[in-house]
Amino acid sequence: MGRPLGKGQFGRVYLVRTKTRPAFILALKTIYKSEVIAAQLEAQVRREIEIQSNLRHPNVLRLYGYFHDEKRLFLMLEYAANGELYRQLAKRGRFSEKRSSRYVAQVADALRYLHSKRIIHRDIKPENLLLGLSGEIKLGDFGWSVHAPSNRRTTMCGTLDYLPPEMVEGRAHNNMVDNWALGVLAYEFICGFAPFEDKSGKGGTFMRIARVDLRFPLGISNEAKDLISRLLRYAPHDRLSFDGVLAHPWIQCYAKAS
Ligand code: AMP
Repeated sequence: MGRPLGKGQFGRVYLVRTKTRPAFILALKTIYKSEVIAAQLEAQVRREIEIQSNLRHPNVLRLYGYFHDEKRLFLMLEYAANGELYRQLAKRGRFSEKRSSRYVAQVADALRYLHSKRIIHRDIKPENLLLGLSGEIKLGDFGWSVHAPSNRRTTMCGTLDYLPPEMVEGRAHNNMVDNWALGVLAYEFICGFAPFEDKSGKGGTFMRIARVDLRFPLGISNEAKDLISRLLRYAPHDRLSFDGVLAHPWIQCYAKAS
């Protein structure tokens, strides 16, 4: 058992090494069963484990297995050596377009894979992206993910910033919520703040999302604006596909090495 890596909603995450040889480094996430039960999130935790353990993609955090004792559940997760992307963003304020473009490409590739397995992530935001040893994206936190199709209405909690119009308006939603969130993510990477943030609070953000009140600060390239505008469309079926994202000039121009 090594150092604590962080603290989650229901317990801590530790860096660990297996006793069996060859030794293997893992992130072990502990979850207190009593707290999950108290929060009535058993079904959600079960779903998170079931979904994540079946996924294999270089930009999706692997869940190798799990075990439990009387009190706790232990998830054996891939170790993301470079920690939270959110922390990098907070430290730098914003990212260069080159760096942003490469992150967006990796998230698009991970989401394309999830959608091909009929899984909607539904909680794409910088806090849920970890970084591997080479700085590559590792998409984690499948707590809100579901098997499509889903006609459920959203219970809104936490930040509104990444929710699409159909979710803030309480309508049915589909996998295109992730395409919208990718547009919000790209915007936040290059601008340093989310596109529909509003000083007046949640009501203001709500209105701006529902109207798709999208404005860009000065100094953003036309290619970046074009890609973001194609993802942030009111009608879900109008949003650019992940194939379209990966073929877009703003992604292609930074895709080559160096
Ligand atoms: P979570 O409960 O998933 O929100 O995790 C709490 C914190 O632990 C995260 O914000 C990360 O800082 C850290 N963490 C979680 N999983 C990993 C991992 N697989 N590799 C490295 N750090 C992690």
